[in-house]
Amino acid sequence: MFHKSKFTYEYIMEIRKMHPKKIIITGIQASGKGTQAAMLAEKYGIKHLSTGEILREHVYAGTDMAKGYTIEDMETGHLAPINVITRVMEYELQNSDNFILDGFPRSKEQLALLEANVNDIDMVIYLQLDDDAATERMKSRGRADDNDDGIAQRLKSFHEETETIIYEDFIHYPNFYVINANQSVENVFNDILTAVDDSQ
Ligand code: AMP
Repeated sequence: MFHKSKFTYEYIMEIRKMHPKKIIITGIQASGKGTQAAMLAEKYGIKHLSTGEILREHVYAGTDMAKGYTIEDMETGHLAPINVITRVMEYELQNSDNFILDGFPRSKEQLALLEANVNDIDMVIYLQLDDDAATERMKSRGRADDNDDGIAQRLKSFHEETETIIYEDFIHYPNFYVINANQSVENVFNDILTAVDDSQ
């Protein structure tokens, strides 16, 4: 028997209107940004733009886009230079009508790059986690760049650069939410969904 689907074009367009389309997710390393961004991207059908993932692909494949940034830089937790970030991010920012930005912007100059290309960010989600909990998590996931030097370097760059744009800039964006990241994946996601509802 034929069942009429409720997922008509109109219904889908209605759903798509009801959630933020351009989201920034930010937080210290290992705060769960990547996991939560992937879950949100899937739930709302928006693009997950992970700068770390995009950079890793370019660096390991040795593409021209990554010129000036090496595997060693990446594994010691050094941020990619702005010209590399500009090459890998500008096209995506200009040509996406929806995205969840994970790992970008991390510094004032990257914020300027964002603001030069996008003026309609709908929501900023800050996953808050203290250094001790972040260090524990990084040590237990054991990625190539999760060695002691890499961890120390990334905590330092978070506090010196990313935290500055969170407290000086993102707090003034519409729909800025702070979420406690020191909870289970499911509870963090529920808190994010509550924030999304609240932002509508
Ligand atoms: P992640 O997967 O976010 O921990 O990123 C892995 C590495 O990629 C970082 O340690 C940085 O070296 C580099 N990276 C990621 N995002 C950025 C960014 N927005 N700017 C510069 N470097 C980045």
